[in-house]
Amino acid sequence: MENFKMYIDGEFVETASGKSFDSYNPFTGKVWAQVAEGGAEDVDRAVKAAHRAFTEGAWPELTASQRGMLVHRLGDLVARDAKKLAEFEVMDNGKLIAEMQGQLNYVPQWYYYYGGLADKIEGAVIPLDKKGYFNFTRHEPLGVVAAITAWNSPLLLLAWKLAPALAAGCTVVVKPSEFTSASTLEFVKLVKEAGFPDGVVNVVTGFGKDVGVPLTTHPLVKKIAFTGSDGTGRAINEAAAKTFKRVTLELGGKSPNIVFDDANLEDAVNGAVSGIFAATGQTCIAGSRLLLQESIHDQFMDKLLALAKTARMGDPMSMETQVGPITTQPQYDKVLSYIDIAKTEGAKLALGGGPATRPECGEGWFVEPTVFTDVTNTMRIAQEEVFGPVLSVIKFKDEEEAANIANDVRFGLGSGVWTHDIGRAIRMSERIQAGTVWVNTYRAVSYMSPFGGYKDSGLGRESGIESIYEYLQTKSVWINTGAKTGNPFVLR
Ligand code: NAD
Repeated sequence: MENFKMYIDGEFVETASGKSFDSYNPFTGKVWAQVAEGGAEDVDRAVKAAHRAFTEGAWPELTASQRGMLVHRLGDLVARDAKKLAEFEVMDNGKLIAEMQGQLNYVPQWYYYYGGLADKIEGAVIPLDKKGYFNFTRHEPLGVVAAITAWNSPLLLLAWKLAPALAAGCTVVVKPSEFTSASTLEFVKLVKEAGFPDGVVNVVTGFGKDVGVPLTTHPLVKKIAFTGSDGTGRAINEAAAKTFKRVTLELGGKSPNIVFDDANLEDAVNGAVSGIFAATGQTCIAGSRLLLQESIHDQFMDKLLALAKTARMGDPMSMETQVGPITTQPQYDKVLSYIDIAKTEGAKLALGGGPATRPECGEGWFVEPTVFTDVTNTMRIAQEEVFGPVLSVIKFKDEEEAANIANDVRFGLGSGVWTHDIGRAIRMSERIQAGTVWVNTYRAVSYMSPFGGYKDSGLGRESGIESIYEYLQTKSVWINTGAKTGNPFVLR
């Protein structure tokens, strides 16, 4: 049995209470590790360590180039240990080793990109309209950042926050999901090895109410970078408002994947399957609403079901497996409950529709790849995020109707458009209210391209140059170079 402690001020430490909790392997349904169960006292200790590191000692003395070198070195260490870190993730979250290895091999790019960006953040000299003044701007780090992650891709989601935060000069307290804390605690050893001063990165593990709440309400925390559900995001945003903390919120989705009759259907079928069954549908950008133009509906469904039926389920550690287990027992129950809801709402079950009882699935939390047709966009199965391998298929007549259905939902994270008509592709990309539109592809991300939500899918952006400004604040400096001091009672 593995045992994981928290990481505060450069040391692995016990919690103040001495308590720990079980972490489960979703493939076996059994406990595989014990994780430190933090509380408010531990959070306070970690935030104070991060605040000290922000204000005193080596970190604030580093030049931006030196900071960038450290962030870059961290990327090298992740690249070196990618295979081991991927195995920790699979053990804890049950996602496929094939996907996690690919992901962990790519994660270093965020550290390289923001490491390189650290010394390219320039202020401006403002060409003032007033004589006798010199005015310039500086971008200064906000301070202590609370980085809170969801369970589906812990180290990727952390890199999206940690790399720009560190490059900007902030210090960080990380709170991973209580379901998947192990890989973050393994990763943080690399922060030490890379040479970051103690206190710059801290990890407090535990539950949302015990660790998340004191962390997001702590007066010394200046910024919250959160990935998780919209409900938690809303609570965090409300709490943050009381002390004017900055927030970035990466929340859920109900993304439309729209196929027009002029699309390459083979490609689009692949895109639809990748949109909902890859990662067992446990991704924020899951293309969980498949919008099919009426004229190709039946033909498309035949191809889609034929492909989905071949999906190999089983041990996520096997490179052959294509659909793994659901990560947590509550999520497994939630996915099954949505399948029941869809049935009672009158959607037509075309594939799957329950727990997977195949022998290769063992005792794990597996749900059969499930497809519902004849879904209308007002059904709960079309409006609410399931976060599992459950696809809702909705018919549309024309472009106008497709755009209306796509936007008639409170989320706006991802979207796909499959067409060979370039004019239509551009028109749809303009009309769809979502942070990302993929045309003739799906589920592509890059450290260079901004990612985030419209509507209830969140606030702010991760990745790309603009993300570093989420961790900086602008100061305007005025220097009198010869202006006369005039009437003190008027604005200069
Ligand atoms: P969740 O909201 O239940 O938990 C996310 C994190 O918040 C966990 O670490 C949890 O312990 C913590 N938390 C819970 N209550 C808290 C509180 N009151 N204050 C502070 N922290 C609190 O989400 P989840 O079930 O872990 O993740 C699934 C959700 O994440 C889905 O909705 C999915 O779409 C979303 N997600 C979004 C993105 C994105 O980039 N937009 C990426 C991955 C997942």
